[in-house]
Amino acid sequence: MSSIPPVRIAIVGAGPGGLTLARILQLSDIHATVDIYERDLSATYRQQGGSLDLHPESGQVAMKVAQLFAEFRKYARYEGEGMKILDKDAKVWLSVDGPLGPPPAEGEYGGRPEIDRTQLRDILLDSLKPSTIHWGHNLQSVIPVVTEGVNEYKLTFANEVQVIADVVIGADGAWSRVRTAIIPDKPVYTGVSFIDITIRNPPSTVSDLVGPGLLGIFAGSRSIIAQRNANDIIRVYAALRESPDYLDEHPELGKSLSSIEAEFKGWHHSLLDLIRAADPNSIIPRKIYAAPIPLPYPPSNKAGSERQPSLSGITLLGDAAHTMSPFAGEGVNLAMADAADLAQSIIGALQPTPDLSGAKARVEFQQLMSHALRIFESKMEARASVKAEESARNLELAMAEDAPAGFVERLKAFRLADK
Ligand SMILES: Cc1cc2nc3c(=O)[nH]c(=O)nc-3n(C[C@H](O)[C@H](O)[C@H](O)COP(=O)(O)OP(=O)(O)OC[C@H]3O[C@@H](n4cnc5c(N)ncnc54)[C@H](O)[C@@H]3O)c2cc1C
Repeated sequence: MSSIPPVRIAIVGAGPGGLTLARILQLSDIHATVDIYERDLSATYRQQGGSLDLHPESGQVAMKVAQLFAEFRKYARYEGEGMKILDKDAKVWLSVDGPLGPPPAEGEYGGRPEIDRTQLRDILLDSLKPSTIHWGHNLQSVIPVVTEGVNEYKLTFANEVQVIADVVIGADGAWSRVRTAIIPDKPVYTGVSFIDITIRNPPSTVSDLVGPGLLGIFAGSRSIIAQRNANDIIRVYAALRESPDYLDEHPELGKSLSSIEAEFKGWHHSLLDLIRAADPNSIIPRKIYAAPIPLPYPPSNKAGSERQPSLSGITLLGDAAHTMSPFAGEGVNLAMADAADLAQSIIGALQPTPDLSGAKARVEFQQLMSHALRIFESKMEARASVKAEESARNLELAMAEDAPAGFVERLKAFRLADK
């Protein structure tokens, strides 16, 4: 077996999806090399963002398959399931203490506990074999190289490195370069922009206002969503329903807290403390994009856009395939569920170890792998389509003129269904 070259698996992107995939593949005994190519220069190069809740049917299952559930439990904040919804006059419309029930027994799934994104990422990073991640590799292109019917893929990075792979997974987020090899479609602006700010060591009034979990204040074209993170940090998203150019036309919103506060005229003074108490150096404005619905990936989803056979060894997962607004809190969960499913598909195609010593055998293996990847994609698409619609609907209700009324009704229905 050692004389047979291993299958070269290239994962582009070290987000939660790419890392989970690599971890599960490395747990198996498949005859393959698994490499991640990541644009960031190091694990600490960029702020990773706020808190996430892992859902029992997706994110938590993926952590279990990755044999990292016990590690996850060390950081999981079950009390973070609490949620409050207010209007701009500080009237409470919904208040649910977290957790919804007692935390599940050790090793069991349940609830929707929170974990900081950095903690989740560190657990996954620490679980990988040394040298799995190639930092500072910003993918520019993937092109198929076909020899005697055998597809290989040439990946070219901005640092001029080129690598050849047999299977390529685009886990490279909303603006995926891998995706552009297969379909031209791009995410579209959702109509909402966020300004992220961070409160460190919050005063007790702000701390009490936010509580142990999530606080959402909704009032038509303006919302504030505040989330408790670990280490006495509260992360706040000031959401503006505005044109895609609004943040560019108002650069001061990326620079000063008072400019952000001015967007919330007429709001109860106690709520504005969520802006005033923030670190003035923490401001990050961002436009929120989502994949169009129906989802354009996989291309078999759209008549007339079939994939070229030479691209059969490429697939996508997570935001690269189906980015959506954060209003359903599903993005990380879907990316990790995709990773767990894709890993099983790839492992299945590689067991028993195929004999890849000749072109004919490699073409046969390629067909087997292609079949496995397409089955994975249809499962991913079915799951993500439902959540993409849910997320779009939540955004409409949360930022509607009558907010928070319709959104609260929807949340109550979901919470009751969860029990
Ligand atoms: C403000 C905000 C709040 C959110 N809140 C939540 C939440 O509460 N719950 C939740 O489940 N989801 C949330 N999401 C969504 C969630 O962040 C994403 O769905 C999730 O991170 C997707 O994981 P991923 O691995 O597919 O992609 P990403 O996390 O985007 O990772 C992609 C990786 O690929 C790398 N990369 C990109 N381009 C290249 C390239 N050309 N070459 C090499 N590497 C590249 C990036 O640097 C990155 O490391 C939120 C999103 C936003 C914007």
